Amino acid sequence: MKKLIFAANWKLNKTPEETRSFFKNFEKSFVAIYSRIKATKAEVMFFPPASSWEATGDSIKAINDKLDSHLALSWGAQNIYVESQGAFTGENSSSVMSLLGGISGLVGHSERRTYFKETNDFLNQKILSLQKRSLLPIYCIGETLQDRESGATEKILSEQLAQGLKNVSSENLVIAYEPVWAIGTGKIASFAQVSETHAFLRKWLNEKGFTETPILYGGSVKADNASELISISDVNGFLVGGASLEPTTFATLIENSLSL
Ligand code: PEP
Repeated sequence: MKKLIFAANWKLNKTPEETRSFFKNFEKSFVAIYSRIKATKAEVMFFPPASSWEATGDSIKAINDKLDSHLALSWGAQNIYVESQGAFTGENSSSVMSLLGGISGLVGHSERRTYFKETNDFLNQKILSLQKRSLLPIYCIGETLQDRESGATEKILSEQLAQGLKNVSSENLVIAYEPVWAIGTGKIASFAQVSETHAFLRKWLNEKGFTETPILYGGSVKADNASELISISDVNGFLVGGASLEPTTFATLIENSLSL
């Protein structure tokens, strides 16, 4: 059975109140698909903004307790600093996240790379720091449209992997492949593009000993294209932005992915 993860990246959206309301509604849809979640051992994760960590932690704990499962839903940070305390104005602490029940961190989302100039070397430090604290890094990689059109996709992805994964353990790690040109644009990579690129990534990772590392796809994944994309053998789930903001839409996306 292939490993499946559905991760919601809320970006800078949702107040704590909106977060609580989301989970109240999501719970109903989630309970309805919970038997499929259990049967497939799928994991569903949320990445809220830091201002909604507490609301997310409380809401997810309440649902997991009711379902008698501490694994069904989990959550993490969109951005975590390499140090967990000190003079680092504006940064997020992994110890605070852990205290509130968070278990993971996104690293290297294209918005962090583009707007905040985070480099592969810096992202490598973030991955190592999360692993040192037994937290799960989800390392995001992806090419720009210019990279793809100039035939540089594999070169760029190899560099992002080689530099980002320096000294990183294969034990507790997820990769998310997100072509930059497909994020939030409604432009969907074709079945062939996703298959080909995931096969390339799987081979690269296998050759370096990351044989069990799941590879998620991200970029305008919606309820109506999820079932086709999940049928690609090297796709282990999705990192979802826009379609994760509304509870029924996100639950339907998961349900469609599990209905094969
Ligand atoms: C993302 O933010 O990681 C993402 C894939 O966004 P969207 O699904 O909106 O393209």
